[in-house]
Amino acid sequence: MSFHNAPELALIVPCMNEEPVLPRSAALFRAKFESLIERQMIAPTSRVYFVDDGSADGTWATICQLAMSNDCFEGIKLSRNFGHQYAVYAGLMHAQGDALISIDADLQDDINAIDDMVQRYLEGDEVVYGVRADRLSDRKFKRWTASLHYWLSGRFGVRAVPDHADFRLLSRRAVSMLGQFRERNLYLRGVVPLLGLKASEVYYTRTQRVAGESKYGFTDMLGLSIDGLTSFSILPLRIISVLGLVVFILSMIFGLWALGAAWVGLTTPIQSWAPTGIPIYLLGGLQILSIGVVGEYIGKTYMEVKNRPTYLVEQTTSGSSASGEV
Ligand code: UDP
Ligand code: MG
Repeated sequence: MSFHNAPELALIVPCMNEEPVLPRSAALFRAKFESLIERQMIAPTSRVYFVDDGSADGTWATICQLAMSNDCFEGIKLSRNFGHQYAVYAGLMHAQGDALISIDADLQDDINAIDDMVQRYLEGDEVVYGVRADRLSDRKFKRWTASLHYWLSGRFGVRAVPDHADFRLLSRRAVSMLGQFRERNLYLRGVVPLLGLKASEVYYTRTQRVAGESKYGFTDMLGLSIDGLTSFSILPLRIISVLGLVVFILSMIFGLWALGAAWVGLTTPIQSWAPTGIPIYLLGGLQILSIGVVGEYIGKTYMEVKNRPTYLVEQTTSGSSASGEV
């Protein structure tokens, strides 16, 4: 393949407080680009887009320096912190290029997998998922909660690829299709398989973060998981209805039995708090839980109805003025 028809690659890198790691990642991304350009797999006009997701440290200043130092770097500054999913989405919507790869800034995703991803793209795949070959770099607890999440996702009908995070290649066509999804509660891992385009997987080993700290605590993971599950299925609502029905039928049977027993003169006095106390707590708990689940969906509908922009761009290194997603 010649330069003439080698695809232009865009690397989308969401960054939140990544000042300690950026210079190192940028150097490696650049070296990777040079090697791919040399092998004529990507066009020389390929770019790395750093998306500053409301960092409080010197991330944006570092991005600006990088953009000045080399044409292959560009920066997009969001007006505040919108969250990882939205930073990736903002990058995808703003970047140019024929093939777009989203990758974390902290080098946990193996940049050598980019070669395979581009190769798959050249062979005609429009979506290439980076899938973790193992989870050895995770702590036991994260590994356990992750498998629980993917198991539940499967039950809930989410077609997410297990052990795939947000390291993936999308063709230009896939990105424009993604732009047609108008949802505010964005869960890219669940939406991308819905595009229905030709997809494949490449396997890589995820390493430890090279510098800085993880921004995803347990509550963020839990939030993403609940969001992912409830954005794709109304099964929890249905479970509540079925549960309500089962409890109702059981109570009817129990009531009839008690009536019948009294009718024929059979008395079964159980003198304890248990027969009344336990159902009260049990049903009380069930009701609160059910209201919570219903509330989760009402909250989602509320967010969707408000239709706020999912991200806002304050400035870019290429100089385009502030704009929001329409
Ligand atoms: N990130 C972001 N916005 C956020 C949180 C994280 O853009 O609100 C970026 C972060 O800079 C990194 C990527 O998302 O490039 C993954 O985050 P992190 O490494 O903290 O997550 P982990 O790998 O620990 O799950
Ligand atoms: Mg990380």
